[in-house]
Amino acid sequence: MSHLDDLRLAVGEPHVLTGIDAAPYLTDWRERYSGRALAVVRPGSTDEVAAVVRACAAAGVPIVPQGGNTGLCGGATPDESGHAVVLSLQRLNRVRSIDPDNDTMVVEAGCVLQTVQEAAHGAGRLFPLSLGAEGSCTIGGNLSTNAGGTQVLRYGTMRELTLGLEVVTAQGDVWHGLRGLRKDNTGYDLRDLFIGSEGTLGIITAATLKLYPLPVARCTALLALASIEDAIGMLSRARHDFGASLTGFELMSGDCLASVVRCFPQQRLPFEGEAAALPWYALLELSDSESETHARERFETVLGEAIESGCVKDAVIAGSVAQSNALWHLRESIPLAEKALGKAIKHDVSIPVSRMTDFVRDTNHALQQAFPGIRNVVFGHLGDGNLHYNVAPGEGWTDASLLARQDDVFALVHDSVHAVGGSISAEHGVGQLKRDALVRYKEPVELALMRSVKQALDPLGIMNPGKVLAVTSR
Ligand SMILES: Cc1cc2nc3c(=O)[nH]c(=O)nc-3n(C[C@H](O)[C@H](O)[C@H](O)COP(=O)(O)OP(=O)(O)OC[C@H]3O[C@@H](n4cnc5c(N)ncnc54)[C@H](O)[C@@H]3O)c2cc1C
Repeated sequence: MSHLDDLRLAVGEPHVLTGIDAAPYLTDWRERYSGRALAVVRPGSTDEVAAVVRACAAAGVPIVPQGGNTGLCGGATPDESGHAVVLSLQRLNRVRSIDPDNDTMVVEAGCVLQTVQEAAHGAGRLFPLSLGAEGSCTIGGNLSTNAGGTQVLRYGTMRELTLGLEVVTAQGDVWHGLRGLRKDNTGYDLRDLFIGSEGTLGIITAATLKLYPLPVARCTALLALASIEDAIGMLSRARHDFGASLTGFELMSGDCLASVVRCFPQQRLPFEGEAAALPWYALLELSDSESETHARERFETVLGEAIESGCVKDAVIAGSVAQSNALWHLRESIPLAEKALGKAIKHDVSIPVSRMTDFVRDTNHALQQAFPGIRNVVFGHLGDGNLHYNVAPGEGWTDASLLARQDDVFALVHDSVHAVGGSISAEHGVGQLKRDALVRYKEPVELALMRSVKQALDPLGIMNPGKVLAVTSR
């Protein structure tokens, strides 16, 4: 029997895709990576995932796990050899249970994030992870990249939102770790090892997630700012004055919003005159336990003082849920506008907030010196010190001429991040995009420990090879 026959036996013939049917799974969301695969396999249960892994382990066939394929580092795309199997988790999409008293829910890895948010809402609870791709990314992908998004400031990343996991190991065994405990000190934390491992250690098939009370009301404000220093000043003011009610603080450069309005003319910036042409904007969200009116009044007081002190040039407070959604839509459209306008070089970096001003000023300057005319496309989750510090073709550049210099741009930006004590991957992971850069910035001891973990959990090297760590010869 061939390996393909084994896979058909494991999941049923209709769920082993080849040829044209497999094509949508072989290119990443940004269309930066394309690969080939022996087949795309779509198991419908944990046992079927385990059977697929056992068959692949026996045949020495690499496995590339895939959720919604919205990742931004090429982690879910196979290489060009055509030897690997893409294992799509999309059919594992059941909400298994919700326990409102324990504030937890158990969901399968292929559940789309938005479906999970809606199921929690239906039970009168909040599952707070929120990001632009939430209509198509999956919980398994969110876990495997330790996704962040817009609510990290208040609720933390996916790691902090997870209590337990069910995992199929690289040998095809099932680890039943779906605990719903907030305290459990019984040895090494395997859960945290699998979260953020980008499919290189095993396959996550289900998770126990934390739930929170639903806020009574949410209110959003858009602020116009003259400088990044002012944005940071406003962040500390907002943290102090709003405390735990501050659930979002997003930074966007004026150029980013101009691109959104250019690409999507139905959207508009709600400012006029000088405030419509400032270099920075911030989107703030308050979650209130009293009412929308209460949230709006709190915004009015704090933003009124900030305008008086000169820290904020102008502000618009949403007067309704529809207006709040329109403001969020501006923010969420930035990656789409960026994609529509060409091929940017993306840096998803984490910087201590206290070093942010120096980082942006010095790196902008160094980039202009080295690559005159390039455009900076800067936005991100300022409340978490996370910037999407992207570089796009400007005057005198084409997509191709900029991409030809990608390694030089990476090195300049990442060296600059390293110099201020930052991280070259805040929330998107490493995948294939940053695999080689990782070696430049991680301590040798840390890298050696990571390789030991990989060797111990995946001795055959079949789990998503070439992602996060380079393949080493055995
Ligand atoms: C418009 C847009 C906005 C975005 N905004 C954000 C944002 O604000 N914050 C953020 O963090 N990310 C963001 N992302 C990136 C992306 O959505 C996240 O990384 C998301 O978590 C990926 O989920 P996915 O299901 O699409 O995973 P995929 O892309 O399918 O896979 C991502 C990685 O996880 C592995 N994997 C997937 N499922 C499993 C599994 N069950 N077991 C083991 N490994 C698995 C894959 O092999 C791959 O390495 C954005 C993307 C887009 C397109």
